[in-house]
Amino acid sequence: MSVHENLQHIVSKIEAAARRSGRNPGDIKIIAVTKHVPADRIKKVLDTGIEDLGENRVQEMITKAEQLPPQARWHMIGHLQTNKVKGVVGRVELIHSLDRWKLAQEIDRQATEQDLIVPMLIQVNVSGEDTKFGINSSELMDFLVALQDLHHIKVKGLMTIAPYVDNPEETRPFFRELRLLGGRCNEKLPGSGLELLSMGMTNDFEVAVEEGANMLRLGTAIFGARRY
Ligand SMILES: *Cc1c(COP(=O)(O)O)cnc(C)c1O
Repeated sequence: MSVHENLQHIVSKIEAAARRSGRNPGDIKIIAVTKHVPADRIKKVLDTGIEDLGENRVQEMITKAEQLPPQARWHMIGHLQTNKVKGVVGRVELIHSLDRWKLAQEIDRQATEQDLIVPMLIQVNVSGEDTKFGINSSELMDFLVALQDLHHIKVKGLMTIAPYVDNPEETRPFFRELRLLGGRCNEKLPGSGLELLSMGMTNDFEVAVEEGANMLRLGTAIFGARRY
C-alpha cells in the first residue's frame, strides 16, 4: 500500500479509537517516524499535510532536514548523547526523550548560549524494564522539581515506550499510568503544565489513543517495515 493509503487507514483507526473513548480526534497529532526512510518517501508524507517528523539519530535528522522542504518540523524521539546536543538545540520542535539530569543540564547550557527555550517531554520508564531509558515513575516528581532551576528548558509533557507485546491490549496499564502520573504532577506541582502525552507506536497506537495520547509516533504503520 502507498504511504497515502496507509495514512488514510491510520486516521480512520485513530478516529474510531477517539470515538470509543469520547475524545476529539483533532487533539491527536501524528509524528511520522522517518528513521531509515529516504527523503523522497518522506516527501509523500509531507504532501498529505503531516509536517511533524520524528528521528532518533541527530545526524540522520540533520541530513534529511537539508533534503526536505522547510515546513518539516523535527522531533527528537531517541536516546540523546550529551555530545550530540549541539545538533539538536534550535533545530527541533520538541525533544521527546529527556531521560536524565546530565542531559537536561547540557541542553540548558546550549539553549542559554543560543538564547532559546527548548520545549521537551520527559521520557518515563513506566514498565521499569532494564532495557529501557527513562526516568522511573517514582522519581518523576523530584526530577520535575529539579528541572525548575533550568530556565532554558520548558517541560511540556511526558513520553513513554510500552513493552513490545503480541496483544496490544497488554500495553494499556502503562499508557494509563503515564496519563495518571502527568495528572498527579500537575496537581501537586502547580504550574508544571504537563499537557502532552507522547505514547503509542505502530503496534499499540489505538490503545494509546483510548488512554489519552495526544502525540503518536508512527513509523512502520506509515512507511511499511524498515529495511536496515
Ligand atoms: C522507531 C520508533 C518509533 C516508531 O516505531 P514503529 O513501531 O515503527 O511505529 C516510535 N518511537 C520511538 C522512540 C522509535 O524509536
